[in-house]
Amino acid sequence: MDGSAKPPFDCDVLVAGGGPGGSTISTLLARRGWRVAMLEKSRHPRFHIGESLLPANIPLFEEIGALEKLRALGRLKLGADFPRDDGSYYTFRFDRALGDTPPYAFQVKREDMDQMLFEHARANGVDAREETAVQRVEFDAAGVTAHIDAGGAKSTLRARYLVDASGRDTLLGKQLKLVERSAAHQSAAMFAHYRGVAWNPDDPGGNIISVNRFAHGWAWFIPLPDGTTSVGCVCKPGYLKTRQGANHDDFMASTLAIVPGAGRRMAGAERVTPVRFTGNYSYACRRMAGPRWILVGDAWAFLDPVFSSGVFLSMYSARRALDVVDGALREPAREAHLQNRYAKHLRQGYARFAWFIYRFNSPVMKALFADPRNVMQVEQGVISMLAGDVFDNRQVLSKLRVFKTIYAIASLINLRRWAADRFDRHRQNRMRVAADAAPE
Ligand SMILES: Cc1cc2nc3c(=O)[nH]c(=O)nc-3n(C[C@H](O)[C@H](O)[C@H](O)COP(=O)(O)OP(=O)(O)OC[C@H]3O[C@@H](n4cnc5c(N)ncnc54)[C@H](O)[C@@H]3O)c2cc1C
Repeated sequence: MDGSAKPPFDCDVLVAGGGPGGSTISTLLARRGWRVAMLEKSRHPRFHIGESLLPANIPLFEEIGALEKLRALGRLKLGADFPRDDGSYYTFRFDRALGDTPPYAFQVKREDMDQMLFEHARANGVDAREETAVQRVEFDAAGVTAHIDAGGAKSTLRARYLVDASGRDTLLGKQLKLVERSAAHQSAAMFAHYRGVAWNPDDPGGNIISVNRFAHGWAWFIPLPDGTTSVGCVCKPGYLKTRQGANHDDFMASTLAIVPGAGRRMAGAERVTPVRFTGNYSYACRRMAGPRWILVGDAWAFLDPVFSSGVFLSMYSARRALDVVDGALREPAREAHLQNRYAKHLRQGYARFAWFIYRFNSPVMKALFADPRNVMQVEQGVISMLAGDVFDNRQVLSKLRVFKTIYAIASLINLRRWAADRFDRHRQNRMRVAADAAPE
């Protein structure tokens, strides 16, 4: 490649972080002929949460040439159950989605998938190094210098471009003070793997993820390839703080005890991993890119995982960032334009997921998910959103707009009902007080 990685550069692109986002963009850049160094602070296989993929992930795996490797280690996922308060549930099956997203996805053990993707990048020519952390970076007019730490040995590495794929560590977000926490949508989670969790009766293959709401948040049940089940509870941070001093296993068990439908599923279950916690985690960085740098995946933003969107958004942003980095290296004058387009496009997709996520626990959304009607194919539009088809499909986007209108009307009716109830209660109270005060 013309002018590529000549001294004083050690590589064309430095990718910080070897999760799904980092491995995806590294592989694709290497396939376009760029010299890529991907540095991962830990060693694969390592535990990671985020085990349920979306159908929209599938074409991305295909594009990087790793679909068959994924198939070999994943468990088929055909849809999602959203249980009702009475313990029954409604299943959204991906084969009913609009457009051409595949009718399936996979559930994975992330330590296996992330290792596979990392090794796949290496097999595609990426200089993929483990136990090597990027500590900080410095930019100058020509490129970027990364200060790195490989098991205590400190050195620097010089590149023409930096991709930050460091996940929730937000390497650049912290260094440039770009991270903004979401005050309105705080959540935290606890999770573990269990053996012997019962499947839902009409899903004997365990192909479906279940998303159960409860008083403090929502819980997931993800059947994994080895027969165990990932079980987790996403709650308001205040609720998780009440565990202080409690045994983690007991706290998880007492929380699951109040999740509708969980008792039946957990009756014969045995925990096989420690209960893990993550703190308050919804945030976004103010900027997604700048001169000679770009953020992908969780390094830019993190949304509540209720629709299992994280790995897809990470790999999708990596795919889109490929065109920015490749274009900027070839024609530096186009960098700002490419970056603006990248940021605008991704913000739109994130916002479409976020709209549903932020309303997920509202009474109206509960009702619409518990008993959906396919009027004007709106339910199928929602299934497409659940499949990850939130970026380009005009048909899906128009159905989502209709859904929003239905939501607004239903909220209004709900509000009037609520106001009428409140007025009634008020009037009854006043009459009671008047009766109590009346002379005998
Ligand atoms: C409770 C919970 C449940 C979730 N459930 C789902 C789900 O069901 N489905 C789903 O799709 N997503 C889920 N997610 C989200 C998912 O975990 C992430 O969105 C996804 O892993 C993002 O991929 P990434 O490559 O951007 O970051 P990561 O997967 O976090 O990878 C980043 C990598 O960078 C490395 N790193 C960090 N800092 C440095 C550094 N300074 N130098 C070098 N390396 C570094 C890390 O070790 C890590 O390996 C969930 C998240 C949470 C918190």
